[in-house]
Amino acid sequence: VTIAELARLLKCSPRRIETVLIDLGEPPASLEETVSADVIELCAVELGVDVEVVDDESPSATSADGTPLELPRRAVVAVMGHVDHGKTTLLDRLRSANVADGEAGGITQARSISYWSPYDRHLGAFVVKCGGGGELTFLDTPGHAAFSAMRRRGASVTDVAVLVCAADDGVMPQTREAAAHILAANCKFVVAITKCDRDGADPSRVRDELHAMGIALESHGGDVQCVEVSAMTGQGMEDLEMALFLEAESLNLTARRDCEGVGVILEARLDKGHGAVVTGLLRRGVVGIGEHVVAGTHYGRVRRLIGDGGVDVESCGPSEPFEITGLRGVPSAGDSVMVVATEERARRVATARADRIETARLAALSVGDDRQFIDDDADARAAESVNSDLCAIVKADVQGTAEAVRDSLLGLGTSSVGVKVVYVGVGAVSESDVALAAAIGGPILAFNVQVSNVVEKAAKDAGVVIVNRKVIYHLLDAVGELLGGLGAFSSRWFPYDREVLGEAEVRQVFDLSGRRGNKANMVAGCVVNSGSFSAVEKFRLLRDGEPVHEGLLDAQSIRRHRLEVTTVGKGTECGVSLADHADVKPGDVIQCVHFVKRKAVVEKVATGGARVVERQPR
Ligand code: GDP
Repeated sequence: VTIAELARLLKCSPRRIETVLIDLGEPPASLEETVSADVIELCAVELGVDVEVVDDESPSATSADGTPLELPRRAVVAVMGHVDHGKTTLLDRLRSANVADGEAGGITQARSISYWSPYDRHLGAFVVKCGGGGELTFLDTPGHAAFSAMRRRGASVTDVAVLVCAADDGVMPQTREAAAHILAANCKFVVAITKCDRDGADPSRVRDELHAMGIALESHGGDVQCVEVSAMTGQGMEDLEMALFLEAESLNLTARRDCEGVGVILEARLDKGHGAVVTGLLRRGVVGIGEHVVAGTHYGRVRRLIGDGGVDVESCGPSEPFEITGLRGVPSAGDSVMVVATEERARRVATARADRIETARLAALSVGDDRQFIDDDADARAAESVNSDLCAIVKADVQGTAEAVRDSLLGLGTSSVGVKVVYVGVGAVSESDVALAAAIGGPILAFNVQVSNVVEKAAKDAGVVIVNRKVIYHLLDAVGELLGGLGAFSSRWFPYDREVLGEAEVRQVFDLSGRRGNKANMVAGCVVNSGSFSAVEKFRLLRDGEPVHEGLLDAQSIRRHRLEVTTVGKGTECGVSLADHADVKPGDVIQCVHFVKRKAVVEKVATGGARVVERQPR
């Protein structure tokens, strides 16, 4: 956009945009000058406007001499489906077959970074050469949790999906989930019926099941391609590549290469020797060595750039997986990454984003705080919809996994109880994680990471629970148990059930206002008809069966024969003075209400995790 256009979009005068640019030390020559994505973000920050820079994928742009600026780019493919249906094996096969192909053709260049990355990590994506010269980029992290985490952030990288379903197992819960994610994303996809070499394989039954699920397979008159494969024998693998390539071609994917790179982080982690190691994919533009980049809330200068095949490269373009070092911090999977012109811009964009996130986090935390006392039904209902019951910290080995764990945890919740993830981090559990967990009164949910003895001791001292598991379903199980046993678990934000301890009828009202100071002081002379009254509990005033007052009241005092008492039993006459409440009449009923921490009911679910069963508050 030009400065004039941006001013119109941000509803401000062009002069203000100019001022921001001057502050950046880059005064514009005219209002018709175009500004880049990072400048748009900076202007928005200055003006207090929230913007999201989305891709302009219109392929019509041409350069001055009429040649198109949009050039074809590879499709990015994600593999999704039920656990154990062969996603990883399929990806391994695609990757290694490709390496073998390359070698057979006399080309010794490694096609996948998985085995050759100098940091001994996979790149989050790899390139496969299909028959006929076409190429596809496969995302190396199977699973729909990561897919939807990225999509939710508006940073979908997937162009075509593979929905995997095992021939010997058929449609399973996560097959449905994956299909739902794909359909919701309106993403092109191909069905791969895997493990067709197995004895119990029955592809036609699987097809019927998929059809019954609402997937319009070609074999059933629809337009979704379905391929039978075996990652073990290699059967059907070329057909799968071909089917994917056809879908990709129909999308006619293009991207500009003549601009600064904009893309998505696939994975990020902290490496002892190299600092933040980040893998990603660009949607458009290029990234090169020595350039300044912003990724999420972090920035830095590209020190080293590794491209597909694990080789050092000078630059990377759209749909070309890359790994960079040089960032000052570890961003999150799904964060956007963009190349910016100067370090100053990079710093300002990153800081502005971090500030915005911190503000949102504090706002979310204060919602949690309000829950300490849920005084009436309206409050309780409002608070429950916030779904902030068990505040937790998530730590995992890599960002992609951390996001997946977080998503699965969020899936555990219902409208009345659930998990609220306050912080997601990568790497070993540290003492500062323990401090944060102690501050929020929640556990640390760790997946496949180290917990040192020092940290364990710190957690013990601080009363912080650390749950560390190597299998995600085991972690979910443990969290289910935590939710179930919340009675014993000290979370400040857990919702309470109310229990009526006792009920008294008001016989007479005495106005003692002004006797002690000038405060209103109406004393209700009552008889406890049932249960008992305790001065430390909360009270509710009912008239004709309806609450007189929104919320619950404290008792200023309970007296018996002028003596202040803490409890009175059934059949006893007493004087109750309700704090800050003067409107009490003979015939009213006072209830003494006790809060009980609500226990979650947890049940196992077919996918192997646990789920909290919805229960109405009492
Ligand atoms: P994921 O959980 O979906 O990634 O599943 P995996 O790729 O880990 O596969 C689960 C199991 O199925 C492993 O023991 C694989 O060896 C096996 N498997 C995967 N694909 C095939 C196949 O095509 N044929 C046979 N016979 N076994 C397979």
